[in-house]
Amino acid sequence: MSNLKHYIKGISGGNTYFSLSKKFRFLAFSLGFYEILISIAYYMAKIYPMMVYSIFVGLFFFIIINNLIKQERYTTSMLMSLSIVVITSFLSTLYIGFECGFAQYCYACIAGMFYMSFVIDKLKNKTGIPFLCSLVFLICYLSIYVMMIFLPAVQPLSSAWTRAFHIGNSLISFFTVIIFNILFIWEINVRNNMLSTQNEQLDELAHKDPLTHLLNRRSMNTFLTRSMDGLKSTGKRFSLILCDIDDFKYVNDTYGHDAGDLVLVTISNIITESLRDGDVVCRWGGEEILILINDPIETASMAAERIRKKIEEATTTFEGKPINITMTFGIAESIPGYRIEQLIQQADDKLYIGKKNGKNQVVI
Ligand code: GH3
Ligand code: MG
Ligand code: MG
Repeated sequence: MSNLKHYIKGISGGNTYFSLSKKFRFLAFSLGFYEILISIAYYMAKIYPMMVYSIFVGLFFFIIINNLIKQERYTTSMLMSLSIVVITSFLSTLYIGFECGFAQYCYACIAGMFYMSFVIDKLKNKTGIPFLCSLVFLICYLSIYVMMIFLPAVQPLSSAWTRAFHIGNSLISFFTVIIFNILFIWEINVRNNMLSTQNEQLDELAHKDPLTHLLNRRSMNTFLTRSMDGLKSTGKRFSLILCDIDDFKYVNDTYGHDAGDLVLVTISNIITESLRDGDVVCRWGGEEILILINDPIETASMAAERIRKKIEEATTTFEGKPINITMTFGIAESIPGYRIEQLIQQADDKLYIGKKNGKNQVVI
């Protein structure tokens, strides 16, 4: 039951995608089913020629149109289906009279035409086609109307049957328009969902490093500029931690590049989990990570020490082999009047000192 609810929610929210062939088959089967239904009505009203005709049209939808859809000939199947609907409403009106309401299918066809041309890729940029076809449907409707002024119906029905047919046809043609409009909204929802997923992916590509999912250098620059502006305007201090994996070449050479990648992902996760909201971390270079802490150096050094310890204690397992690594950290605090490049250089100088003094340490 909850699965069904989830499924319905997925469809109505535009999260469930159906292939064009499925949608068209659904429409063809609905039309075929409608023709069978109407043939039953004809049988009950004792209009046998129209009953036989409707059965044939129903079978046409089930077999021929369905086959065209299987061959992916969507435009042909659409034009044939709509033509058959118009011809059928023409013949039905001619047979049992205008008051039975069959001509209403001409305007239901307009909604169908616009919807189907919207979903058929080939017709996407040809808005003139549904518009012109709609004019044809309008002309057909008026022709049927004018024709019935001059021609008597072949087999006029009793007033009760006429009313029943009129109500039935009104209901079906109005619901057809409603359904096509709902389908339109649904199509737009599906497209919006696809677009937002693609936007998220593009955003990820533009702002994040694909391996570690940390921010890239370009995005980090935006945060650095923001913190620098904050320092100038409000005096809010910030700190930069530049860290580098110790002997990473050894990891790559011993365990392979994939193992090195896995280590990078592991340490990125450790660092991200160890920071607070508001701290920003990015992949600055190959195996160098830059952290922006919007606090003075004392807080930053505590954070760096916490991360250093966690990394030292962590083990990355690659193909059953444990890999232990360490990192060295250099920290610089914001200084009014300094440029951001100078601050990064200071952090880099500290990092260099740490590397020279035996690695696996935090240098302030
Ligand atoms: P040190 O302790 O002095 O930092 O020694 P190191 O071996 O780590 O030396 P260095 O920092 O110069 O080495 C950088 C190495 O990182 C070289 C490069 O192959 C590797 N590297 C950079 N980016 C990646 C990456 O995305 N994946 C992997 N597997 N290795 C990378
Ligand atoms: Mg290194
Ligand atoms: Mg390096």
